[in-house]
Amino acid sequence: MGYVKGLKCRECNREYPVEPIYVCEFCFGPLEVVYDYKNMRKVLTKKAIEKREKTLWRYRELLPIDSEPQVGLDSGFTPFLKADNLAKELGIDELYIKDDSVVHPTLSFKDRVVAVALTKAKEFGFDTVACASTGNLAHSVSALGAKAGFRRFIFIPATLEPSKIVASLVYEPNLIAVDGNYDDVNRLCIEIANKYRWAFVNINIRPFYAEGSKTHGFEIIEQLGWKAPDNIVVPCASGSLLAKIWKGFKEFMDIGIIKELRTKVFAAQATACSPVSTAIKQGSDIIRPVKPDPHSIAKSLAIGSPAEGYDAIKAVRESGGYGEDISDDEIIEAIKLLARTEGIFAETAGGVTVAVTKKLINMGRIARDELTVICITGNGLKTQEALNGKTISPYYIKPNLASFEEVLNEIEK
Ligand SMILES: *Cc1c(COP(=O)(O)O)cnc(C)c1O
Ligand SMILES: [Zn+2]
Repeated sequence: MGYVKGLKCRECNREYPVEPIYVCEFCFGPLEVVYDYKNMRKVLTKKAIEKREKTLWRYRELLPIDSEPQVGLDSGFTPFLKADNLAKELGIDELYIKDDSVVHPTLSFKDRVVAVALTKAKEFGFDTVACASTGNLAHSVSALGAKAGFRRFIFIPATLEPSKIVASLVYEPNLIAVDGNYDDVNRLCIEIANKYRWAFVNINIRPFYAEGSKTHGFEIIEQLGWKAPDNIVVPCASGSLLAKIWKGFKEFMDIGIIKELRTKVFAAQATACSPVSTAIKQGSDIIRPVKPDPHSIAKSLAIGSPAEGYDAIKAVRESGGYGEDISDDEIIEAIKLLARTEGIFAETAGGVTVAVTKKLINMGRIARDELTVICITGNGLKTQEALNGKTISPYYIKPNLASFEEVLNEIEK
């Protein structure tokens, strides 16, 4: 029924059947889903896709599921908008925003990966799902897992923003707040995943989970009128989203949906945790793990040992892109810039992407006359703390016209 041929080790090419496994037994390389592109060509055409529902499942032949989609039936196909106001501010001709701040149901691109992962977990017969999360993944697994009737174990660093914790708790998962950073949480989860037969979406289900990220890229190509952009700027935590957008673009070439691929892929990180952009800037293939600054506001990107960092670097290099990182103050300025110009309230990861785009334009890495896409991956209502005391202030008045007009005079001066 599906087009999945199996799993394959990215290092030594050894093949594996479709099972909840994620590393090669021989070389410990990561496993990746491989598809039968040849037979898919005839079925997954532009015409066929255009007739389907406006969700991420319209690309289902390129997703690793055998059954009908079972979770996240309304996820994906988010807005794609021409950002003329922001383009003017940044001094470039053609700028678009792919807006995953409004994915259904939890307002970050993680709903895409979790929709795929939990559908696969159902196929594998799991009753319990789990994850290690910097916040957004916790929301998605909690919410989509609730709808799908899974028992849920959610592991987070205890220092996450209070509003991010509440936004998981409301779905009543088993929330485990760990005294440590994300990398500590992830290490613990690997140990737990070895002992309990649970579907850890970003560990033993990872090869399937990660494929969901491709749909962010597929939609960009479709919404651009079936062409790939010149530049795309992608925020990086584990590096998965970036690597999979690039994989998706190449798949659209392979099956003949686009005829040309000259996109340069750019990695965006916060300086407070920038193992991927640092390696790119140093021209190195080796990611040096870092200890994220626990005070940085860019918590959703704070992964010091990125699982797919190497793949992200490879994608950036293969495409002729680059990587940059940005300070917390610049992230806040960029969040406000995006809100002020385009009316979009992004979370800190969005500030990272916008600020890095601005930097890359000023450096000449992104040409001013090329078509650029910025990936906004999460909603600002989730990280309002980051802006406490950093926005403009309200005008306080008495409930009478005179008091209002006093203020109006001030404003119009
Ligand atoms: C998880 C996340 C990312 C990065 O995802 P990776 O695939 O781990 O690189 C980007 N933005 C937001 C808002 C996220 O939650
Ligand atoms: Zn191998």
